[in-house]
Amino acid sequence: MFRSVGRRLAILNTLVVIVVIAAVGLASFLYLSRKIETRTDAELQGRSLSAVQLWTSSFLEAAADESSGTATATPSNGEANDDDHESGEDGSDDDVNEHQAEELVRSGDTIAYGIDLDGDVIASLRPIDIEGLPKQDAIDRALQGEIVVETMTFEDQRVRVRTEPVLVDGRIVGAIQVGMGLGPNEQLLDFVRWATVGGLVLGAVLALPAGIWLANRSMRPIRDAFTRQRAFVADAAHELRTPLTLIRAEAEYLAQTPELSPADQAESESAIVREVDSMATLVSSLLQMARMDERGQKLVGQRVELAEVSNAVVNRFDGFALERQISLNCEVVEPASAHCDREATEQVLAILVDNAIRYTSVGGSVRVRTLTRSGKAIVEVIDTGIGISEEDQRKIFDRFYRADPARTRSRGGAGLGLSIAIELMAAQDGRIEVESKLGLGSTFRLLFELP
Ligand code: ADP
Repeated sequence: MFRSVGRRLAILNTLVVIVVIAAVGLASFLYLSRKIETRTDAELQGRSLSAVQLWTSSFLEAAADESSGTATATPSNGEANDDDHESGEDGSDDDVNEHQAEELVRSGDTIAYGIDLDGDVIASLRPIDIEGLPKQDAIDRALQGEIVVETMTFEDQRVRVRTEPVLVDGRIVGAIQVGMGLGPNEQLLDFVRWATVGGLVLGAVLALPAGIWLANRSMRPIRDAFTRQRAFVADAAHELRTPLTLIRAEAEYLAQTPELSPADQAESESAIVREVDSMATLVSSLLQMARMDERGQKLVGQRVELAEVSNAVVNRFDGFALERQISLNCEVVEPASAHCDREATEQVLAILVDNAIRYTSVGGSVRVRTLTRSGKAIVEVIDTGIGISEEDQRKIFDRFYRADPARTRSRGGAGLGLSIAIELMAAQDGRIEVESKLGLGSTFRLLFELP
């Protein structure tokens, strides 16, 4: 389940990376190409103005000829005129011209034509023929008074062309057409285009494995928590099933054996009550753990006299200790107060004292001592009981862990007491230590910061 979620997350991550790169690339491309066009248009406008100034006399002459009826294309005072390059008749001249035209467009230099009212070229800036230039439809529109700005293609190169009417005293005397290859500026556009394609390929190749790695890594704590939760539910169900099986067996025995002696009947009944009690304890422990898991927050502390809490707990367990023939007493080595939650501390101590009595044989002793040491307020619960092996000492705080299940179940525990205790201590910034020797007894120590 986690693996397929991880894969889906990684694919989603890759798609997001690809979409972001594509969007950024496209936006940069559109922005740059718009910027290049605007800049080129402004430059063309300026060059068109210079060409008009350069050729004004040619336009006026052509206009005068027009009105007198002698329409001739007059060579301009440009660097060369239109006729110059018409002289090359043979193929090699055509090749040279084509090569020069390509160079001119690629270089981004200005191409300019002066056009008379008949639409004939009366002046041109370069002695080179460029296929498609001058643009006749644009000239026709310009002679009608329109300014035409457009982009054409020559040999795979984009050329921006501006055509506008030439006005003298508010009268149209001709048109001017200026063009400029966008090539040099478009190198940047090419770079953006290839960078975007490269980014997309790289993004797709890297984002997928990186996404899978990241998803796995970030889901590890969730997976662990899920596994722990599943184990907890399984353990809880198992723990509840045991007393239920016993209760059912005793109840069936009672129902199917009417001739049972009153003593046997009483024994079965008290076995049922015992199991119900242990179930009730287990259920309330489970509830408390669920609440602690849900809350997961710190307990609000107050100044608490630990000797008072110890006394109260010892008093509560006096009867139980007497019943088990175990001596239970409370010692105040030093009065110690701690900043903690009184109720939670009382519950932790009760769990420790209850365990100490349960895991100590008849004739043994349990002592609860209050003291301070190295800046800590301490309560110790010391018993002369069965002790805990070193290996078990590391595990007894785990949920449902019992050092010796066969023995401890008969003493009534489900293995939840110490895990509740350690969580309650952590919630009030305290901790629990254990020292124990098998067969000799155990010491559980609660440590709090002094207030
Ligand atoms: P339980 O309800 O089984 O007592 P706990 O979490 O309180 O569960 O304790 C876990 C295990 O630690 C117990 O089953 C027992 O094996 C061991 N243990 C706890 N306290 C003592 C003690 N004072 N002496 C010996 N063993 C103990």
